Amino acid sequence: MPAVSEFRASEAATPRHDWTRSEVEALLDLPFPELLFRAAGVHRLNFDPAEVQVSTLLSVKTGGCPEDCAYCPQAQRYDTGVDAQKLMETEAVMEKARAAKAAGASRFCMGAAWRSPKDRDIPKVAAMIAGVKSLGLETCATLGMLTGSQAQALKDAGLDYYNHNIDTDPEHYGSIIRTRELQDRFDTLEHVRDAGLKTCCGGIVGMGETRRQRAGFLQTLATMPAHPDSVPINRLVQVEGTPLHGTAELDPFEFVRTIAVARILMPKSMVRLSAGREQMSDELQALCFSAGANSIFHGEKLLTTGNPDVAHDQALFDRLGLRAMQVTVDAEGHDHGGTVHADIVDQPGRCVA
Ligand code: SF4
Repeated sequence: MPAVSEFRASEAATPRHDWTRSEVEALLDLPFPELLFRAAGVHRLNFDPAEVQVSTLLSVKTGGCPEDCAYCPQAQRYDTGVDAQKLMETEAVMEKARAAKAAGASRFCMGAAWRSPKDRDIPKVAAMIAGVKSLGLETCATLGMLTGSQAQALKDAGLDYYNHNIDTDPEHYGSIIRTRELQDRFDTLEHVRDAGLKTCCGGIVGMGETRRQRAGFLQTLATMPAHPDSVPINRLVQVEGTPLHGTAELDPFEFVRTIAVARILMPKSMVRLSAGREQMSDELQALCFSAGANSIFHGEKLLTTGNPDVAHDQALFDRLGLRAMQVTVDAEGHDHGGTVHADIVDQPGRCVA
Protein backbone atom coordinates (compact mmCIF):
# COMPACT_ATOMS: atom_id res chain seq x y z
CA MET A 1 0.00 0.00 0.00
CA PRO A 2 1.73 3.22 -1.08
CA ALA A 3 2.11 5.93 1.53
CA VAL A 4 0.03 9.02 0.95
CA SER A 5 2.95 10.94 -0.56
CA GLU A 6 3.84 8.04 -2.87
CA PHE A 7 0.38 7.50 -4.28
CA ARG A 8 -0.06 7.95 -8.01
CA ALA A 9 -3.50 7.44 -9.42
CA SER A 10 -1.93 5.83 -12.48
CA GLU A 11 -0.68 3.02 -10.28
CA ALA A 12 -4.24 2.15 -9.44
CA ALA A 13 -5.62 2.55 -12.94
CA THR A 14 -4.59 -0.85 -14.23
CA PRO A 15 -7.10 -3.47 -13.15
CA ARG A 16 -5.70 -5.99 -10.70
CA HIS A 17 -7.24 -9.28 -9.74
CA ASP A 18 -4.98 -10.16 -6.83
CA TRP A 19 -6.17 -7.79 -4.12
CA THR A 20 -5.79 -9.13 -0.61
CA ARG A 21 -8.31 -8.53 2.11
CA SER A 22 -5.73 -6.64 4.17
CA GLU A 23 -4.99 -4.32 1.23
CA VAL A 24 -8.69 -3.61 0.83
CA GLU A 25 -9.08 -3.05 4.56
CA ALA A 26 -6.17 -0.62 4.47
CA LEU A 27 -7.94 1.37 1.76
CA LEU A 28 -11.18 1.43 3.75
CA ASP A 29 -9.20 2.62 6.79
CA LEU A 30 -7.59 5.59 4.99
CA PRO A 31 -8.37 9.08 6.21
CA PHE A 32 -11.58 10.03 4.42
CA PRO A 33 -10.12 12.91 2.33
CA GLU A 34 -7.18 10.76 1.23
CA LEU A 35 -9.49 7.93 0.19
CA LEU A 36 -11.68 10.27 -1.85
CA PHE A 37 -8.60 11.82 -3.46
CA ARG A 38 -7.33 8.44 -4.58
CA ALA A 39 -10.72 7.27 -5.84
CA ALA A 40 -11.31 10.52 -7.71
CA GLY A 41 -7.91 10.16 -9.39
CA VAL A 42 -8.70 6.64 -10.57
CA HIS A 43 -12.13 7.80 -11.75
CA ARG A 44 -10.64 10.57 -13.91
CA LEU A 45 -8.15 8.25 -15.53
CA ASN A 46 -10.93 6.03 -16.78
CA PHE A 47 -14.07 8.13 -17.16
CA ASP A 48 -15.29 11.64 -17.61
CA PRO A 49 -16.22 12.43 -14.00
CA ALA A 50 -18.99 14.77 -15.16
CA GLU A 51 -20.89 11.91 -16.79
CA VAL A 52 -23.31 9.62 -15.00
CA GLN A 53 -25.02 6.73 -16.70
CA VAL A 54 -28.74 6.35 -16.07
CA SER A 55 -30.42 2.97 -16.26
CA THR A 56 -34.05 1.95 -16.16
CA LEU A 57 -35.83 -1.31 -15.48
CA LEU A 58 -39.05 -3.25 -15.43
CA SER A 59 -40.03 -5.99 -13.02
CA VAL A 60 -41.50 -8.60 -15.38
CA LYS A 61 -42.36 -11.06 -12.62
CA THR A 62 -42.85 -9.77 -9.11
CA GLY A 63 -42.95 -11.47 -5.70
CA GLY A 64 -43.66 -15.04 -4.66
CA CYS A 65 -39.99 -15.97 -4.61
CA PRO A 66 -39.03 -19.20 -2.77
CA GLU A 67 -35.62 -17.85 -1.69
CA ASP A 68 -34.96 -16.47 1.79
CA CYS A 69 -32.78 -13.38 1.13
CA ALA A 70 -33.13 -11.59 4.46
CA TYR A 71 -33.44 -8.15 2.91
CA CYS A 72 -35.98 -8.93 0.24
CA PRO A 73 -39.69 -8.09 0.30
CA GLN A 74 -40.30 -10.41 -2.65
CA ALA A 75 -39.51 -13.56 -0.68
CA GLN A 76 -42.85 -15.27 -0.23
CA ARG A 77 -41.94 -16.39 3.31
CA TYR A 78 -41.94 -12.80 4.60
CA ASP A 79 -45.10 -10.81 5.16
CA THR A 80 -44.23 -7.58 3.37
CA GLY A 81 -47.40 -6.77 1.50
CA VAL A 82 -45.89 -7.47 -1.95
CA ASP A 83 -48.48 -9.17 -4.15
CA ALA A 84 -47.09 -11.93 -6.32
CA GLN A 85 -47.62 -11.38 -10.03
CA LYS A 86 -47.14 -13.74 -12.94
CA LEU A 87 -44.68 -13.24 -15.74
CA MET A 88 -45.81 -10.36 -17.91
CA GLU A 89 -46.87 -10.84 -21.50
CA THR A 90 -44.33 -9.86 -24.13
CA GLU A 91 -46.52 -7.14 -25.63
CA ALA A 92 -46.97 -5.51 -22.21
CA VAL A 93 -43.21 -5.50 -21.77
CA MET A 94 -42.77 -4.02 -25.24
CA GLU A 95 -45.19 -1.25 -24.38
CA LYS A 96 -43.08 -0.33 -21.34
CA ALA A 97 -39.91 -0.55 -23.39
CA ARG A 98 -41.30 1.79 -26.07
CA ALA A 99 -42.24 4.26 -23.36
CA ALA A 100 -38.78 3.95 -21.83
CA LYS A 101 -37.17 4.65 -25.17
CA ALA A 102 -39.43 7.64 -25.72
CA ALA A 103 -38.34 8.88 -22.30
CA GLY A 104 -34.71 8.70 -23.40
CA ALA A 105 -33.62 5.34 -22.04
CA SER A 106 -30.97 3.47 -23.97
CA ARG A 107 -31.03 0.32 -21.87
CA PHE A 108 -33.91 -1.72 -20.60
CA CYS A 109 -33.57 -4.30 -17.86
CA MET A 110 -36.09 -7.02 -17.16
CA GLY A 111 -36.11 -8.54 -13.70
CA ALA A 112 -37.94 -11.58 -12.41
CA ALA A 113 -38.19 -12.77 -8.80
CA TRP A 114 -37.16 -16.34 -9.41
CA ARG A 115 -34.72 -18.67 -7.71
CA SER A 116 -33.89 -19.63 -11.27
CA PRO A 117 -35.96 -19.70 -14.44
CA LYS A 118 -37.41 -23.00 -15.57
CA ASP A 119 -36.42 -24.07 -19.04
CA ARG A 120 -40.01 -23.49 -20.14
CA ASP A 121 -39.70 -19.84 -19.07
CA ILE A 122 -36.70 -19.17 -21.29
CA PRO A 123 -38.56 -18.87 -24.63
CA LYS A 124 -40.94 -16.34 -23.06
CA VAL A 125 -38.09 -14.24 -21.70
CA ALA A 126 -36.21 -14.66 -24.97
CA ALA A 127 -39.19 -13.24 -26.83
CA MET A 128 -39.18 -10.21 -24.53
CA ILE A 129 -35.46 -9.74 -25.06
CA ALA A 130 -35.76 -10.01 -28.84
CA GLY A 131 -38.67 -7.60 -28.84
CA VAL A 132 -36.89 -5.00 -26.70
CA LYS A 133 -33.74 -5.38 -28.76
CA SER A 134 -35.74 -4.76 -31.95
CA LEU A 135 -36.57 -1.32 -30.60
CA GLY A 136 -32.86 -0.44 -30.66
CA LEU A 137 -32.47 -0.68 -26.91
CA GLU A 138 -29.73 -2.46 -25.03
CA THR A 139 -31.13 -5.38 -23.11
CA CYS A 140 -30.36 -6.68 -19.68
CA ALA A 141 -31.95 -9.17 -17.32
CA THR A 142 -31.83 -10.48 -13.80
CA LEU A 143 -33.64 -13.78 -13.41
CA GLY A 144 -31.77 -15.68 -10.69
CA MET A 145 -29.46 -18.61 -11.24
CA LEU A 146 -28.84 -19.73 -14.81
CA THR A 147 -27.52 -22.90 -16.37
CA GLY A 148 -25.00 -22.63 -19.17
CA SER A 149 -27.57 -23.45 -21.83
CA GLN A 150 -30.01 -20.90 -20.43
CA ALA A 151 -27.35 -18.20 -20.48
CA GLN A 152 -26.54 -19.09 -24.08
CA ALA A 153 -30.22 -19.04 -25.08
CA LEU A 154 -30.60 -15.56 -23.61
CA LYS A 155 -27.47 -14.39 -25.38
CA ASP A 156 -28.77 -15.82 -28.65
CA ALA A 157 -32.03 -13.92 -28.13
CA GLY A 158 -30.11 -10.65 -28.00
CA LEU A 159 -29.34 -10.19 -24.32
CA ASP A 160 -26.43 -7.84 -23.65
CA TYR A 161 -26.07 -7.88 -19.85
CA TYR A 162 -26.93 -10.14 -16.96
CA ASN A 163 -27.16 -9.07 -13.33
CA HIS A 164 -26.34 -11.52 -10.58
CA ASN A 165 -25.07 -10.18 -7.27
CA ILE A 166 -22.91 -11.85 -4.66
CA ASP A 167 -24.73 -9.69 -2.10
CA THR A 168 -22.12 -9.64 0.69
CA ASP A 169 -18.87 -10.97 2.11
CA PRO A 170 -18.45 -14.76 2.00
CA GLU A 171 -18.12 -14.75 5.82
CA HIS A 172 -21.40 -12.89 6.22
CA TYR A 173 -23.25 -14.62 3.42
CA GLY A 174 -24.75 -17.39 5.56
CA SER A 175 -26.38 -14.82 7.83
CA ILE A 176 -28.27 -13.35 4.89
CA ILE A 177 -29.15 -16.21 2.54
CA ARG A 178 -29.50 -19.91 3.29
CA THR A 179 -31.38 -21.20 0.26
CA ARG A 180 -28.45 -20.95 -2.12
CA GLU A 181 -24.72 -21.09 -1.73
CA LEU A 182 -22.32 -18.41 -2.78
CA GLN A 183 -20.75 -20.98 -5.08
CA ASP A 184 -24.09 -21.22 -6.90
CA ARG A 185 -23.73 -17.55 -7.68
CA PHE A 186 -20.18 -17.92 -8.88
CA ASP A 187 -21.34 -20.75 -11.13
CA THR A 188 -24.04 -18.58 -12.68
CA LEU A 189 -21.58 -15.75 -13.23
CA GLU A 190 -19.27 -18.18 -14.97
CA HIS A 191 -22.08 -19.35 -17.24
CA VAL A 192 -22.89 -15.73 -18.01
CA ARG A 193 -19.29 -14.89 -18.88
CA ASP A 194 -18.90 -18.08 -20.92
CA ALA A 195 -21.97 -17.16 -22.96
CA GLY A 196 -20.34 -13.84 -23.84
CA LEU A 197 -22.73 -11.73 -21.80
CA LYS A 198 -21.56 -8.67 -19.89
CA THR A 199 -21.81 -9.01 -16.15
CA CYS A 200 -23.31 -6.78 -13.53
CA CYS A 201 -22.45 -7.90 -10.02
CA GLY A 202 -22.39 -6.18 -6.66
CA GLY A 203 -24.27 -6.36 -3.43
CA ILE A 204 -25.73 -4.59 -0.45
CA VAL A 205 -24.06 -2.87 2.47
CA GLY A 206 -25.63 -1.99 5.78
CA MET A 207 -26.80 -5.55 6.46
CA GLY A 208 -25.04 -5.72 9.83
CA GLU A 209 -21.65 -6.57 8.35
CA THR A 210 -18.39 -5.25 9.79
CA ARG A 211 -15.92 -3.06 7.91
CA ARG A 212 -13.70 -6.09 7.57
CA GLN A 213 -16.60 -7.92 5.95
CA ARG A 214 -17.22 -5.00 3.60
CA ALA A 215 -13.56 -5.38 2.64
CA GLY A 216 -14.19 -9.08 1.98
CA PHE A 217 -17.22 -8.26 -0.16
CA LEU A 218 -15.24 -5.80 -2.29
CA GLN A 219 -12.24 -8.11 -2.47
CA THR A 220 -14.46 -10.93 -3.71
CA LEU A 221 -15.74 -8.74 -6.56
CA ALA A 222 -12.27 -7.47 -7.44
CA THR A 223 -10.67 -10.90 -7.58
CA MET A 224 -13.16 -12.45 -10.00
CA PRO A 225 -11.70 -13.74 -13.28
CA ALA A 226 -13.04 -10.57 -14.90
CA HIS A 227 -14.20 -7.51 -13.04
CA PRO A 228 -17.94 -7.05 -13.43
CA ASP A 229 -18.75 -4.54 -16.18
CA SER A 230 -20.88 -2.79 -13.61
CA VAL A 231 -20.88 -2.94 -9.85
CA PRO A 232 -24.11 -1.97 -8.11
CA ILE A 233 -23.50 -0.94 -4.53
CA ASN A 234 -26.84 -0.97 -2.77
CA ARG A 235 -27.57 0.49 0.63
CA LEU A 236 -30.01 -1.66 2.54
CA VAL A 237 -33.58 -0.49 2.28
CA GLN A 238 -35.21 -1.77 5.42
CA VAL A 239 -38.58 -3.25 4.61
CA GLU A 240 -40.97 -4.12 7.40
CA GLY A 241 -41.57 -7.85 7.54
CA THR A 242 -38.08 -8.81 6.38
CA PRO A 243 -35.57 -10.17 8.91
CA LEU A 244 -33.22 -7.23 8.37
CA HIS A 245 -35.85 -4.66 9.29
CA GLY A 246 -34.51 -2.87 12.35
CA THR A 247 -30.82 -3.40 11.51
CA ALA A 248 -28.57 -0.59 12.76
CA GLU A 249 -28.20 2.04 10.06
CA LEU A 250 -24.86 2.17 8.28
CA ASP A 251 -22.89 5.38 8.80
CA PRO A 252 -23.29 7.27 5.51
CA PHE A 253 -19.54 7.89 5.40
CA GLU A 254 -19.01 4.13 5.44
CA PHE A 255 -21.21 3.93 2.38
CA VAL A 256 -19.08 6.56 0.62
CA ARG A 257 -15.93 4.69 1.63
CA THR A 258 -17.36 1.53 0.08
CA ILE A 259 -18.05 3.37 -3.18
CA ALA A 260 -14.55 4.88 -3.21
CA VAL A 261 -12.82 1.56 -2.63
CA ALA A 262 -14.96 -0.13 -5.29
CA ARG A 263 -13.80 2.57 -7.72
CA ILE A 264 -10.13 2.00 -6.84
CA LEU A 265 -10.33 -1.80 -6.99
CA MET A 266 -12.32 -1.95 -10.23
CA PRO A 267 -11.13 1.14 -12.10
CA LYS A 268 -12.81 0.42 -15.42
CA SER A 269 -16.16 -0.80 -14.10
CA MET A 270 -19.25 1.31 -13.76
CA VAL A 271 -19.96 1.80 -10.06
CA ARG A 272 -23.66 2.24 -9.52
CA LEU A 273 -25.73 3.79 -6.78
CA SER A 274 -28.76 1.55 -6.72
CA ALA A 275 -31.17 0.65 -3.97
CA GLY A 276 -31.24 3.07 -1.11
CA ARG A 277 -30.54 6.12 -3.26
CA GLU A 278 -34.01 7.50 -2.63
CA GLN A 279 -33.19 7.65 1.06
CA MET A 280 -29.91 9.52 0.49
CA SER A 281 -29.57 13.25 0.80
CA ASP A 282 -28.37 15.24 -2.19
CA GLU A 283 -25.16 15.89 -0.30
CA LEU A 284 -24.52 12.19 0.25
CA GLN A 285 -25.15 11.44 -3.42
CA ALA A 286 -22.75 14.23 -4.37
CA LEU A 287 -20.09 12.67 -2.14
CA CYS A 288 -20.69 9.32 -3.83
CA PHE A 289 -20.22 10.88 -7.29
CA SER A 290 -17.02 12.51 -6.01
CA ALA A 291 -15.89 9.10 -4.75
CA GLY A 292 -16.27 7.55 -8.20
CA ALA A 293 -19.86 6.45 -8.56
CA ASN A 294 -20.85 7.01 -12.18
CA SER A 295 -24.16 5.31 -12.64
CA ILE A 296 -27.58 5.59 -11.11
CA PHE A 297 -30.72 3.67 -11.40
CA HIS A 298 -34.28 4.70 -12.16
CA GLY A 299 -37.19 2.37 -11.73
CA GLU A 300 -40.15 2.22 -14.05
CA LYS A 301 -41.40 5.40 -12.44
CA LEU A 302 -39.12 6.95 -15.04
CA LEU A 303 -41.83 6.11 -17.51
CA THR A 304 -44.17 8.59 -15.87
CA THR A 305 -43.81 11.96 -17.49
CA GLY A 306 -43.00 14.65 -15.00
CA ASN A 307 -42.14 12.15 -12.32
CA PRO A 308 -40.88 14.18 -9.36
CA ASP A 309 -38.01 11.78 -8.68
CA VAL A 310 -36.74 12.21 -12.22
CA ALA A 311 -37.14 15.96 -11.98
CA HIS A 312 -35.28 15.94 -8.68
CA ASP A 313 -32.43 13.93 -10.18
CA GLN A 314 -32.22 16.29 -13.13
CA ALA A 315 -32.09 19.25 -10.77
CA LEU A 316 -29.34 17.55 -8.76
CA PHE A 317 -27.37 16.88 -11.96
CA ASP A 318 -27.76 20.55 -12.88
CA ARG A 319 -26.63 21.72 -9.45
CA LEU A 320 -23.58 19.45 -9.60
CA GLY A 321 -22.74 20.11 -13.25
CA LEU A 322 -23.26 16.46 -14.15
CA ARG A 323 -24.77 15.13 -17.33
CA ALA A 324 -26.32 11.85 -18.36
CA MET A 325 -23.93 9.57 -20.20
CA GLN A 326 -24.98 9.04 -23.78
CA VAL A 327 -24.97 5.50 -25.07
CA THR A 328 -25.50 4.61 -28.69
CA VAL A 329 -26.38 1.23 -30.11
CA ASP A 330 -25.17 0.58 -33.66
CA ALA A 331 -26.87 -1.45 -36.36
CA GLU A 332 -25.24 -4.65 -35.12
CA GLY A 333 -26.50 -4.00 -31.65
CA HIS A 334 -23.08 -3.12 -30.26
CA ASP A 335 -23.14 -0.44 -27.63
CA HIS A 336 -20.76 2.45 -27.38
CA GLY A 337 -19.95 4.80 -24.60
CA GLY A 338 -19.83 3.85 -20.97
CA THR A 339 -22.32 1.07 -21.05
CA VAL A 340 -23.74 -0.69 -18.07
CA HIS A 341 -26.99 -2.32 -17.30
CA ALA A 342 -29.70 -1.64 -14.82
CA ASP A 343 -30.05 -3.98 -11.92
CA ILE A 344 -33.05 -4.74 -9.85
CA VAL A 345 -33.04 -3.18 -6.45
CA ASP A 346 -34.28 -4.30 -3.09
CA GLN A 347 -37.38 -2.22 -2.84
CA PRO A 348 -40.86 -3.64 -2.83
CA GLY A 349 -41.30 -5.34 -6.15
CA ARG A 350 -37.59 -5.47 -6.87
CA CYS A 351 -35.01 -8.21 -6.76
CA VAL A 352 -31.28 -8.03 -6.35
CA ALA A 353 -30.72 -11.72 -7.03
S1 SF4 B 1 -33.50 -11.13 -3.79
FE1 SF4 B 1 -34.29 -12.23 -5.60
S2 SF4 B 1 -33.80 -14.40 -5.13
FE2 SF4 B 1 -33.67 -13.30 -3.16
S3 SF4 B 1 -35.75 -13.50 -2.30
FE3 SF4 B 1 -35.69 -11.57 -3.45
S4 SF4 B 1 -36.53 -12.09 -5.45
FE4 SF4 B 1 -35.91 -14.00 -4.47
